[in-house]
Amino acid sequence: MAVWDNLGTAGEVDDRRGISGIALGGGSLVGIVLFLALSFMGVNVDPALLDQLAGTTSSSSLTQNSAQPSEYAGKDAYEKFTSTVLGSTNQYWRSALNTEDKSYKDPRLVLFRDATQSGCGIATTQIGPHYCPNDATIYLDETFFDILRQLGGSNGDVAQAYVIAHEVGHHAQNQLGIMETVQESPGYRSGGEDSLSVKLELQADCFAGLWANSLNDKNVFGPGDIDQAIASAKAVGDDRIQQKSGSTVNPETWTHGSSADRAAAFNKGYETGKLSVCREYL
Ligand SMILES: [Zn+2]
Repeated sequence: MAVWDNLGTAGEVDDRRGISGIALGGGSLVGIVLFLALSFMGVNVDPALLDQLAGTTSSSSLTQNSAQPSEYAGKDAYEKFTSTVLGSTNQYWRSALNTEDKSYKDPRLVLFRDATQSGCGIATTQIGPHYCPNDATIYLDETFFDILRQLGGSNGDVAQAYVIAHEVGHHAQNQLGIMETVQESPGYRSGGEDSLSVKLELQADCFAGLWANSLNDKNVFGPGDIDQAIASAKAVGDDRIQQKSGSTVNPETWTHGSSADRAAAFNKGYETGKLSVCREYL
């Protein structure tokens, strides 16, 4: 366990766990993996696609309970953990953008279970953690990390922090105008190991590495902690996901990058701590 208490940071977390009301049927791991292969940690949150995904998982409409069940009430340890990590990413990005004479607007993070309304449609567990640029918000259902563990990643705290930092990386791309430029480019929707979509994802991994590097002098990480983040970056490589779901490994369909490339991208940010190095992706 990393020592998050050393940070003393806080970000804006909206805890909706237990409030959203869709009961989604449990798909098989393969089914879930295929969904993830389409969109895990993705930025390709085109609202129409999300509505379509939500429509295939449930035909019922989203209902909200007004009261949160007691297990999530108050600021529990998980909420505090995500707030601390988000706050530390805010700290890094404010300072990094400041040196580029740009201001940084902090993103929000919504914790949910099963499904919740997002600015990009309906966020569901099956879609996996993602960033919605329309409302500058990260959507996270932590039960996702049990799936990550089954894919050979980790559900440990550092792996979870890496995923949050990756999503914040997409927010930084949004703030820097990179996302808009890429999404307006012809061919953005086509996959492939050298595609724009893969470059956007690898850059978000590199950005997560920059955040991890910024904590080096804060005594947060112990031995093996960074390896946990790297193992998780590998677990969500397109080749690994294709293997685990029983599909043929086909680089032409990749949208997020291979295991090796994702781990290398994280390491590039982590080892150099230089935004300019990560900017080489896009
Ligand atoms: Zn991503």
